Amino acid sequence: MTSCDVLVVGGGIAGCAAALRAADLGADVTLVLKDTLGESNTSWAQGGIVGLPPASYGDSPELLAADIEAAGAGLCRPEAVRLLAQEGPALCREFLWKRLGVPFDLGADGEPEPTAEAAHSARRIFHARDFTGQAIQDALSEAVKAHGRIRILEGRMLVDLLTTPHHGRDPRGVYDPIRVWGAYLLDSDKQVHRVRAARTILATGGLGYLYLHTSNPAGATGDGLAAAYRATARIVNCEYIQFHPTTLYVPHKPRTLLTEALRGEGAHLLNRRGERFMTKYAPEAMELAPRDIVSRAIFQEMASTGDSNVFLDLTPVAAKLDLEARFPKVLSVCRAEGFEPLRQPMPVVPAAHYFCGGVAVDLEGRTSLPGLFAVGEVACTGVHGANRLASTSLLEGLLWGYRAAETAVTEGRGSTVPSEAALKAWIPAQGPEAADPLLIEQDWNNVRTTLWNYAGIVRTRARLERARGDMGHLYHRIEAFYREAPLSRPILELRNAVTCARLILKAALLNPESRGCHYRVD
Ligand SMILES: Cc1cc2nc3c(=O)[nH]c(=O)nc-3n(C[C@H](O)[C@H](O)[C@H](O)COP(=O)(O)OP(=O)(O)OC[C@H]3O[C@@H](n4cnc5c(N)ncnc54)[C@H](O)[C@@H]3O)c2cc1C
Repeated sequence: MTSCDVLVVGGGIAGCAAALRAADLGADVTLVLKDTLGESNTSWAQGGIVGLPPASYGDSPELLAADIEAAGAGLCRPEAVRLLAQEGPALCREFLWKRLGVPFDLGADGEPEPTAEAAHSARRIFHARDFTGQAIQDALSEAVKAHGRIRILEGRMLVDLLTTPHHGRDPRGVYDPIRVWGAYLLDSDKQVHRVRAARTILATGGLGYLYLHTSNPAGATGDGLAAAYRATARIVNCEYIQFHPTTLYVPHKPRTLLTEALRGEGAHLLNRRGERFMTKYAPEAMELAPRDIVSRAIFQEMASTGDSNVFLDLTPVAAKLDLEARFPKVLSVCRAEGFEPLRQPMPVVPAAHYFCGGVAVDLEGRTSLPGLFAVGEVACTGVHGANRLASTSLLEGLLWGYRAAETAVTEGRGSTVPSEAALKAWIPAQGPEAADPLLIEQDWNNVRTTLWNYAGIVRTRARLERARGDMGHLYHRIEAFYREAPLSRPILELRNAVTCARLILKAALLNPESRGCHYRVD
């Protein structure tokens, strides 16, 4: 067992920002990641992050807030949106660009040159060509590694949050409120260890991998959401899963994102007959309509034509920009699959992309459980409402990571963390039977196809009910297995995935109203 002032679980933009800020304020920080530092959704972000362009670009916090609210379909929390719009872009500039030196593309004036994206009414997206996330993650990782107050534990997986009275030894703790004091972690030696902390910040990212078609990496399994749920934290808005309209469609291969910025810069969506079908679905905004509208339009177009995909034509972008210089990653991904984007439209389908719901937090990232903060995609600040505006999630992770760290350090000072002796040790499962990889893979297929087919872009009560029954059955089987088999990452991820699937399905069933990215045809 170890202890620290602030335990941060997750090392994407939100976790690294939190760790750096807490350490700058003098806290001893432990940063835990289930992979190595640098493997995160953050690294995969292509398009960019909302910045602060010079006044000549005609932008303002009010305009940004209005765009976020419009995308969020009337469900955004106004004070969270205002905070992001007023403080986020300046933090992006000062912290990421000035302090960490993220290599954003610069204009002739030496300032970051903003690009356009769908549903943004001004050019305000800072980007490092089309690998912005990688550039940001690299800079954050370097800073975290160099900081003397941050201890990095790679390859350790959050199993559960350490709470009292649940994990306390004193039976009279039952009269006290539930409180978080750190976490149980699965180590590379397959043992479970405790880290005690005055404050814990969850920054474990999203759950896109629960869907068959997704832009997310395989680590996005909803671990933090499931752990927070088990610890009884308040969870909200789980029905709002954002589907990205354009991922490259290659049968039997994982989907790869083709960034929003392509449509922002003029790429057209076409059906097999070469028609710009968005004229039927969003005649004014066309390809620049919010993601939910574009994703549904593609879904309906595919349903009406029976086609497996539609196409994204990049040639209008090539006519005005040097595609090789601006979108090198997109071009290399397409060419690796045998396509030539300068000559032919790219086959695309929508895919699960971003989780708008999460652990409910306030403006400082506090959850409903004392001692626990949540930041980044695992959290729901209310900024995204029923649908996220492109390029706002990196910014939200940065701002809330920063703010939560400040509050965690201030509130954590002087708090008395339970002693080692006051807490229960982990009791390892007694069963000798190790997990059968084939069973785990089959259960994963079950989760991913069920959510894609029954809780995807278009939902009905009948499908959701069927899925809820199936996932309920799976849940009981996996829980029994979890209690008997020696722990491993695959078992833990599957257990978390099924828990999150049930949260999504329950929320989707309880909400009959179509709004943003939750769309019920019944
Ligand atoms: C392909 C793609 C493109 C995107 N493009 C953009 C974009 O252009 N602009 C934008 O704003 N957003 C974009 N997004 C969304 C954005 O990248 C994410 O919302 C954001 O990076 C989430 O950051 P995070 O810090 O919350 O989590 P992540 O970056 O996902 O980091 C999660 C961290 O938690 C760790 N972790 C997870 N579970 C555990 C566990 N059980 N134990 C220990 N550690 C754990 C992981 O190892 C990782 O370090 C994109 C997403 C994808 C997938």
